[in-house]
Amino acid sequence: MDIKIKKIKSESFEWERPGIWNGMHFYGPGRLHKVTISTDQGIEGIGWNGGTAAVRPNDFYGLYVDYYKSFLIGKNPLDTENLTLNLGQKQDKILGSAGLHTQVLAALIIACWDIKGKVKGQSIHSLLGGEQKRVRAYVAGGYYAKNKGLEELQEELLHNVENLNATAVKIKIGDPNAGISEDMKRIEAARNAIGPNIDLLVDANCAFDLNTAIEYAKEMENYNIYWFEEPLAIHDFKAHKTLNASTSLMIAAGENYYTLADFETLIENNGASMLNVDATICPGYDVALKVAKLAEEKGLKIAPHGCQELQLPLVSAVSNGELLEYYPPEVDELRKELFYPKLILDSDGYVTVPDTPGIGFDLNMELLNRYRVC
Ligand SMILES: [Mg+2]
Repeated sequence: MDIKIKKIKSESFEWERPGIWNGMHFYGPGRLHKVTISTDQGIEGIGWNGGTAAVRPNDFYGLYVDYYKSFLIGKNPLDTENLTLNLGQKQDKILGSAGLHTQVLAALIIACWDIKGKVKGQSIHSLLGGEQKRVRAYVAGGYYAKNKGLEELQEELLHNVENLNATAVKIKIGDPNAGISEDMKRIEAARNAIGPNIDLLVDANCAFDLNTAIEYAKEMENYNIYWFEEPLAIHDFKAHKTLNASTSLMIAAGENYYTLADFETLIENNGASMLNVDATICPGYDVALKVAKLAEEKGLKIAPHGCQELQLPLVSAVSNGELLEYYPPEVDELRKELFYPKLILDSDGYVTVPDTPGIGFDLNMELLNRYRVC
């Protein structure tokens, strides 16, 4: 189809919320950066990011969108693979290989995919492969907070299981002021709260060096842990290799990998068996799908990190898509009104993939417009 990009709009939104503390980082206000791509055929696509972007300066997003405009205007938005290559890898020398700019690129490429879906009358999920109609989700959480003790942690996890239908829940460890015995109490409390039949995922957000991670993994083998996520610094591939070889725990990693090459190196080093690829980081569905396919070839699984409405098309597209990370409304009250249709867990802990053309989710602009900052 002869279709060309005509106009690109960038908008940033910010709202108050309690904030999220994972032990290593604190994310304050909720934020979302949206791009809208218009075409000469009247079809419009949207893309967005947030999450990890929460503490990055709002003003930068629009500047990067402006930079990319000269590469995108007049181009065919359906040619996402070449656009990703030309604006991503081929700009490495000018912009660097990873960071805020590739995150903006992710939103732009997602918007192009949204257009592609609308042009073809298909969901992105189906265009990417459409292997699964339903995917199991785990509820992200178990964050640190002021005055939140073990009892409050247990209440939260129980709520996730009983009221949100979760069959898998995640908690954070690795608060620099805690240490291994405190963290094991935390894990034990979590396990006691949810009982033996719910999967417990543990995330360290890169808090440990190799020896500490090995020590933690050894202790955690006593608590029936589903996976040990981001134990180490992201680019310490050798340490991942040693850790993975030393433990029976499933090691999960990859939410902070911006390039296919990072995943290739991790896999070559046998550094993890679960890849938390994020389509708003790596950047966009073309690269994310390559990561998923590479994982499949090597017998590995993916469980995408980040905004569930954008990761669902990816995880459900491939047969090795194992779990979807799900941020409950309790983490951010506004979030539950931001996307429609509202994505909730079915009674068996799975989510059902929408089959409307494009992403399958829209943004509630009536609400978001109240929080526009630039
Ligand atoms: Mg994580």
